[in-house]
Amino acid sequence: MRGRIFWVLMGAPLALIISARASHSLPTVRRIVSAIWNLPKRISRADVRALGRALCAISTLLLGMLLLSIAIASADPAKTWIVGATVISPERPDSGQVLHVLIDGDRIEAVTPTVPADMAGVAVVHAEGRYLVPGLMDSHVHLTGIPAIPYPMRAQHPDLVEAYLRQVPRSFLRYGYTTVVDLIVTDPRPLQRMRAAAARPDIYDCGGALPVPNGYPSQNAPAEYRFQIFPNTVVDPAHTENFPASEDPTTHTPRAAVQRILKGGGICVKTFFERGFGRDHNLPVPSADLMKEIVAAAAAAHVPVLLHASSIEAQTFGVDNGISIFAHGMWNWGTYTEGDSVPPGVQAVLDRIVERSIGYQATLQVIAGLQLLYDSTYLDRPDVRRVIPPALLAWYRSDEAQWYKREVAQGASDAAMRERLGRTLQRGSLVVRYLAQHHARFLFGTDTPSGPTIGNLPGLNGYLEMQQLVNAGLSLRQILEAATLSNAKAFGLDGQIGTIQPGKRANLVLLGKSPLESVQAYDSIQGIWIGGRHLLPGDLEADRQ
Ligand SMILES: [Zn+2]
Repeated sequence: MRGRIFWVLMGAPLALIISARASHSLPTVRRIVSAIWNLPKRISRADVRALGRALCAISTLLLGMLLLSIAIASADPAKTWIVGATVISPERPDSGQVLHVLIDGDRIEAVTPTVPADMAGVAVVHAEGRYLVPGLMDSHVHLTGIPAIPYPMRAQHPDLVEAYLRQVPRSFLRYGYTTVVDLIVTDPRPLQRMRAAAARPDIYDCGGALPVPNGYPSQNAPAEYRFQIFPNTVVDPAHTENFPASEDPTTHTPRAAVQRILKGGGICVKTFFERGFGRDHNLPVPSADLMKEIVAAAAAAHVPVLLHASSIEAQTFGVDNGISIFAHGMWNWGTYTEGDSVPPGVQAVLDRIVERSIGYQATLQVIAGLQLLYDSTYLDRPDVRRVIPPALLAWYRSDEAQWYKREVAQGASDAAMRERLGRTLQRGSLVVRYLAQHHARFLFGTDTPSGPTIGNLPGLNGYLEMQQLVNAGLSLRQILEAATLSNAKAFGLDGQIGTIQPGKRANLVLLGKSPLESVQAYDSIQGIWIGGRHLLPGDLEADRQ
């Protein structure tokens, strides 16, 4: 069963990736361009008049759009005072006091104990009695993975796919996530579309991830397409026999892969130590020599290395070879048996993780989200309606949409599945408790969605992850730091975000309750600022799309 669960968990983005190739938007654009380009050489007067009318209509439309955008811009003064909120921010000695925050354009201009008498021409948001925190950051997401609709199913539900992808960036913002990091990009086009959306978080990514040939997660793609889908597949100096003769190994060194990531704007390197699960339980894994090369190439480029590793073997390997961040918690303890506390053999690895200050994404919702598949009341939660478009939510209730639940269960009852997954979650939670007690460097990352599971919904999954972390033993302060400054530092973004300080990007969240008093504060969001733009949570919800 354990193997099965892992397949389910980690198989995540994989199966789905394969038909990324099925997208036809680029060829379509090319066809249109070439059709225009190949206009008949002899053009009639009627053609010229028709073309003139078309150009005229287009320029009128563009002028209209320009005027509209000017009107929108001028209706929104460049400066805003947020008055009277209790400011809670890492690195502020006056954190916890009532302060006033001035936003100018997309930046924070001032944070002061008093406001000027004359605030003419400046927008004012009264925030007395409420709490202002830095915008939250989720550093482990898969923005284009759709719960319950893997790539091969997308062609059957184009409208649901479209509605979901339109809503994803809004759902993250709705829950206060103003920065997200997508760890595996196999097709940059859907991300580019999200970055162009009107309301979206700041989206960063690690570009194409670095599997070994035929290793996780590339084994999910048909063999002949693996290098196309994972162009950053790396040659392992200890196992050159695994590298296909048809590819040029000099373009598949860690250095070459990291250069491609940087060229595409990536800010991190994602790689894997995963022997697999289910059908694929004997996958090749990187050698220590290869991992050291990856770590060196990333260090030279000043970007962190995130390792997919959820077992004691994989996390030991990561510690031994100098990786920067674990992209999962440790819920597979190998030969160690579970009990009410972390066995000494597991503790020894965790101690080294603390000592070396390796970033830790606990991702407890990977397991807890699977448990939700076996909770018959889950889809009735009112917060699910906030993040999933109505038509998709209706479809989620259909028998067809339950395929993943059935596949994971393999005939087991709901109660049996909740119990099995509960034991896995317990191991992950005990690890989190131990690391929290020893002040590990937690980084907030949810792995949304970790697979085609409807238990990991955008934005909401972050709130559920926070609840899991609290239950496991993380303090509210540890959670806030993990989701703000610690994440920003780990990804080299702390010059821009992570605290409420003058000069930083105006990414802010206004809460009705204190995030240092209850985790429910993260469900009391009253306002979000993204790059200085003020949004209300209700406007970001799925039924307002
Ligand atoms: Zn992931």
